[in-house]
Amino acid sequence: MAYIAPPLEPPARVLMGPGPSEIHPRVLRALGANTVGHLDPYYLTIMNDLQRMLREVFQTTNPMTMAVSATGSAGMESTVVNLIEPGDSMIVCVNGVFGERMVDVAGRAGANVTRVDRPWGEVFSPDDLKAALAAAKPKVVGIVMAETSTGAWQPIEEISKLVHDAGALLLVDAVTALGGVPVKVDEWQIDAIYSGTQKCLSCPPGLAPVSFSPRAMDVVLNRKTKVQSWYLDVSMLAKYWGADRVYHHTGPINMTYGLYEALRLIQEEGLDACYARHMLNHRALKAGLTALGLKYATVEGHQLPMLNAVLIPDGIDDVKVRKALLERFGIEIGGGLGAFKGKAWRIGLMGHTARPNNVLLVLGALEQLLAEQGHKFDRGSSIAAANGVYG
Ligand SMILES: *Cc1c(COP(=O)(O)O)cnc(C)c1O
Repeated sequence: MAYIAPPLEPPARVLMGPGPSEIHPRVLRALGANTVGHLDPYYLTIMNDLQRMLREVFQTTNPMTMAVSATGSAGMESTVVNLIEPGDSMIVCVNGVFGERMVDVAGRAGANVTRVDRPWGEVFSPDDLKAALAAAKPKVVGIVMAETSTGAWQPIEEISKLVHDAGALLLVDAVTALGGVPVKVDEWQIDAIYSGTQKCLSCPPGLAPVSFSPRAMDVVLNRKTKVQSWYLDVSMLAKYWGADRVYHHTGPINMTYGLYEALRLIQEEGLDACYARHMLNHRALKAGLTALGLKYATVEGHQLPMLNAVLIPDGIDDVKVRKALLERFGIEIGGGLGAFKGKAWRIGLMGHTARPNNVLLVLGALEQLLAEQGHKFDRGSSIAAANGVYG
């Protein structure tokens, strides 16, 4: 007898972790629209408008702006493998899991990697890079703008000036940043940048928006060696996404519809209103968590609105709380990774998740679970504090 698996009935969760985040219902509907061919004239208009909307959220005029057909990590690989040839010098800034991953990716691409470290929960200042830039004379400097493992919000502009003065290209991880906080590719002179759909773009995982500056494309087109990855070779992808529309791989049609609708939602809301919504909900959540006596794991002044990393109070059972949040309240939050494992919770307010109902729900649930474990605070105080911010 053939095995027939049970029907698909995923539970309705409230996704408040480090991604995936809540999917807007309009995006879910777009995913189910008629599939057309990947060279169908209709699909080509969708690709054009997708690129146009991506340029707007990246705040760039870079012609080479598109979506790589895979998750955010493939965005990381695509920017690194196109810019790096074996033996090239690259500096990677590491203050969490994703800087660590970039070191691994760069090493596999044959880069001669110099890592510059900062403690988890902190950010880099230009001074942290000066000595390494002078010693390593890098071709590329890689940095994470929104470090999802720690909640740290890295300023880019001043570091960009320093990197360009040293003659290097700047590569930025904006997987969690894009759609949640301003990302100004042209103004900040970012040469290569990548993101993912499942963080602040309110879309399921599956695509990685990327953008390459004309300067970065010059470097790619004048390589001495072929890009090691056929799939991610941006000189070939440029022919599929450019005017020629040369077949490269079958575009993920329905995922592209999903991202298209997600970007339309951001355009309708307006970029500034979208950032303001993330910030307002963050301030409300922070007021509530503070009323519960919880402290942020990220330095003050550099806390991301969309990723709230808080230290787990002494005597509270990390796994028990997260399990009860999921089983009793249907809420997913993230545990700590790496240096923060068992020490922090990561509460996401990304994209469609960043709404008052989710903030009040998670605070109400946390109050109950912390009280059950004997944590002392005034009952109801977190809800009152959050509502105070919403005014
Ligand atoms: C999630 C994330 C990634 C990896 O993206 P995937 O979609 O999981 O492959 C890379 N960098 C940062 C900062 C992230 O938050």
